[in-house]
Amino acid sequence: EIAEGNLQYVKAEGNTAEIVALEKTFNAMVDSLKEKEIVEGNLRQAQRLSAIGNLAAGVAHDVRNPLNAIKLLSSHALDSLNAPENDHTAKQIRTIRTEADRLEDIVSGFLSLAKEEELNFEETSIDTILAECLRLMKKDAEMRGVNLTAELRAGDMPLMLDTAKMSRAILNVLINALEACPEDGRVRLFSRTSGDTCEVEIRDDGPGMDDETLERIFDAYFTTKAMGTGLGLSITRGIIEEHQGSVTISSSPGAGSQALITLPTSPPTS
Ligand code: ADP
Ligand code: MG
Repeated sequence: EIAEGNLQYVKAEGNTAEIVALEKTFNAMVDSLKEKEIVEGNLRQAQRLSAIGNLAAGVAHDVRNPLNAIKLLSSHALDSLNAPENDHTAKQIRTIRTEADRLEDIVSGFLSLAKEEELNFEETSIDTILAECLRLMKKDAEMRGVNLTAELRAGDMPLMLDTAKMSRAILNVLINALEACPEDGRVRLFSRTSGDTCEVEIRDDGPGMDDETLERIFDAYFTTKAMGTGLGLSITRGIIEEHQGSVTISSSPGAGSQALITLPTSPPTS
């Protein structure tokens, strides 16, 4: 039976020590064969998922070119139409434009999740990166009427970071904080060192989240926003983990949200 792949225990029903020992050995073999089946099953599943992943990345890549054409040509059409702000056709073309932008966000978000790029580590300080993020978000905060402030206290503690990716990771959290805030709300950015780690904290006084939402915020494609992609935080977590760091977000309804990013100050080993 076992030779035919029917992995069930044997029951020899003998009482001499040799037979009992044989039964035990035999059943241990059945166990390890079962284990091997599970491992092989997992492997097959992983191979299938990876094939699907490659396929999806290929599709996402191919969608980009026609998408760029749609963006470019709709902008040109809008220009040559030269119509007043509230013209019906102009409005429709503008919608095509913004929807194409949204598609592009989804596609690039997916691609940055799917591809395993080499990181470009360089020696820099976290405060340099945070100051740049602040500069980029200043206008956006002003337009929303949100008060964006920072206390950068990590000093020039040198860290090995991929500047572009780390900026992306922090911007995703900052953008969420700004999006969550009501007008006149406040987003605060802090940095500090603590032992051999460096901490970045982003606090907002938006509506906060219930536990059910909080549990899912790092899932790819989870969003509660009408125009959200749900990719921001999963990308952030990927990048922070590639830097051997961690990111946690705590929140409760009515109490705003607090994101804490912890990074090791010693250079990553891998
Ligand atoms: P997106 O911003 O596109 O929705 P994210 O991955 O950035 O995707 O965030 C996922 C979800 O987590 C958001 O839709 C929102 O429900 C929740 N979230 C994240 N940050 C905050 C925050 N600061 N305050 C309230 N909710 C938040
Ligand atoms: Mg987001």
